[in-house]
Amino acid sequence: MKSRLIILGCGSSIGVPRIDGFWGRCDKNEKKNQRSRCSAIIIKGSNHILIDTSPDIKNQLLSNKVKKISSVIFTHEHADQTNGLFELRPFFWQHQSRKINTYGDFKTMKHIKKRHDFLFKNIGPYSPIVKSNIIRSKFSLGKRNEKILFKSIEAKHGQTKSLIYIFEKTAYASDCNDLSIVKMSKLKNLNYLIIDCLRLKKHPSHFNLDDCLYVHSQLKPRKTILTNLHYSLDYNYLLKKLPSNVVPAYDGLKINL
Ligand SMILES: [Zn+2]
Repeated sequence: MKSRLIILGCGSSIGVPRIDGFWGRCDKNEKKNQRSRCSAIIIKGSNHILIDTSPDIKNQLLSNKVKKISSVIFTHEHADQTNGLFELRPFFWQHQSRKINTYGDFKTMKHIKKRHDFLFKNIGPYSPIVKSNIIRSKFSLGKRNEKILFKSIEAKHGQTKSLIYIFEKTAYASDCNDLSIVKMSKLKNLNYLIIDCLRLKKHPSHFNLDDCLYVHSQLKPRKTILTNLHYSLDYNYLLKKLPSNVVPAYDGLKINL
């Protein structure tokens, strides 16, 4: 069975435009510059695996007509990847009050459980809606022909670490500044590399454009898709500047895996 991935959001932590209407260098007349915070979903039959729960998750799922979530995998604990968790309540109700399984490494789940304790355990009148699971470096989600096999790699993301998920010959590395990934054999022979490309200037916790082009040249995926884009990077500026197999993401980009 075929699977596909939707980039639900490809913006940096503040999105484009910012909450105060500032568009930076992005042309506000280009719809592809309107970027919500990073999240994605993998769909294989009825298996719907959400990667991160951005603060924009409600509108992201509505605009992509996603009406179901089977499970959630987290890359790391930062607010722009996790603060939408509360929005998943309707899926808990949809599951006849069966908790939604969420997955991440120990450090990520510890932070999320602390910050969103009311979603994981009985506090006050409302039921918890999610269950925390610690993932291993190899795991699978879904049943029979809808099953998706995952590998994960821990990578440096400034002062913390985030997970890069590898599935269906695709790697998702939305938050990372770890150039040592170019040596990782799990990242060779990819069809798609979806990678953190914050801006042109260096940054202490994200790849910049030069880093991404270097990673692309070393790992040689069939296509590299840039995500986590700051308002200093205009969609058409990037499109003109980049080689044909490196493209900027946009919200709602659909990829057949
Ligand atoms: Zn982050």
